[in-house]
Parts: sequence; C-alpha cells; structure tokens
Amino acid sequence: MVTAKNSVLTTEQWKAIRENDENFDDQFFYAVRTTKIFCRPSCKSRVPNFNNVTIFYNVDEALAAGFRPCKRCKSAGFRLPDEEWVLQAEAYMREHSSEQLTLDSVAEGCHGSPYHLHRVFKQVNGITPLEYIHRIRMEKAIFYLRRTDKSIREICTLIGVPNASYFATMFKKGTGQTPRKFRKSDENEVLRHEI
Ligand SMILES: [Zn+2]
Repeated sequence: MVTAKNSVLTTEQWKAIRENDENFDDQFFYAVRTTKIFCRPSCKSRVPNFNNVTIFYNVDEALAAGFRPCKRCKSAGFRLPDEEWVLQAEAYMREHSSEQLTLDSVAEGCHGSPYHLHRVFKQVNGITPLEYIHRIRMEKAIFYLRRTDKSIREICTLIGVPNASYFATMFKKGTGQTPRKFRKSDENEVLRHEI
C-alpha cells in the first residue's frame, strides 16, 4: 500500500474522480482544499477543480490533515453525524458569505441534497440555512458599520448583498435603523462613552 501524504494526483486518479469510478474506492480518497471535505472516487458530488485536489490513501491521513468526511459518500466509513454536517455547513456559509449563496449552492458545497440540508440544519439549529446566512450578513454589516469607515456600497459587496437598497431595507428590518443612521447613532454612542 502506498503511504505517501499529499500526493499529486495521477491522470488515472483524475479520470476515476471525474467518472465516479467505484472500482477505485478502496484505493484512494480525494480531498478538496476549498470545501475541506474528502470523498471516495465514486462520490456523486460535483467534480472539483483539479488544482484543489489532494490525494490520500487512508482515512486517518485525511482527517489528520484537517479534512472532514463527506456526508454523501460516507468517506470515513460511517455516517457523518448530523451535528458534524451542520458545523460543516456553517463553516461553508461563513467562508462564502460574500458570495451569492442559495440553499442549492450551500448543499452542493457541503455534499448533500438541499432538502436534507434544510431539514437537518433546522433540526439542529432551530433556524434554516438561509436564516443563518442572513444572520451572518447582519453581524458582518454591523461590524463594518461600527468598526470601519467603508462605504455602504463596499459593505454590500463584502457581505454578498450587492443591491444597496435591498441591503438598507434588510438592515432596517433587523435593527430598526437604516445603515447610515445606525452608523451615525453608533458614533454618538461611542462618543458619549468616551466622555
Ligand atoms: Zn463524497
């Protein structure tokens, strides 16, 4: 058995990954740097970018390198607990919160079905994945408004809500103030505390 770590993938392995060839399932695992998930060659998840793939020859090496098992192909040989999967999804959403996220794209990134993700996430966290994304965006917006002098437009881009008026509406709904007003009143607040 080959024991090399972080091997460069061969043409044959790349072909097996692209074709979901189950004949290779006992031979290697492939991990994807961007999603931090490792899979069996036969996994039906979207074919990763060639440059992000690292090959492992056993589960322990992949886990030791910080990759998580895949929910879909059960690459660790057991069913990934729901709580673990939810953590995976949370990390994915935090990392990608500046992008246009949908339930489908998050599910794809976390190697599961949208329906299943929605259900499990809500069961564990009490809120849906989309509500979670909304929460992250509000937190980030508040942080940027308070701690930086970035323009509202820049903040919109950073939190993945490119439409400024939509952002203003969403923000007001959450805090009772428009972003501009919030920033201003917060400055006054800070000033009062400093005096
Ligand atoms: Zn997989």
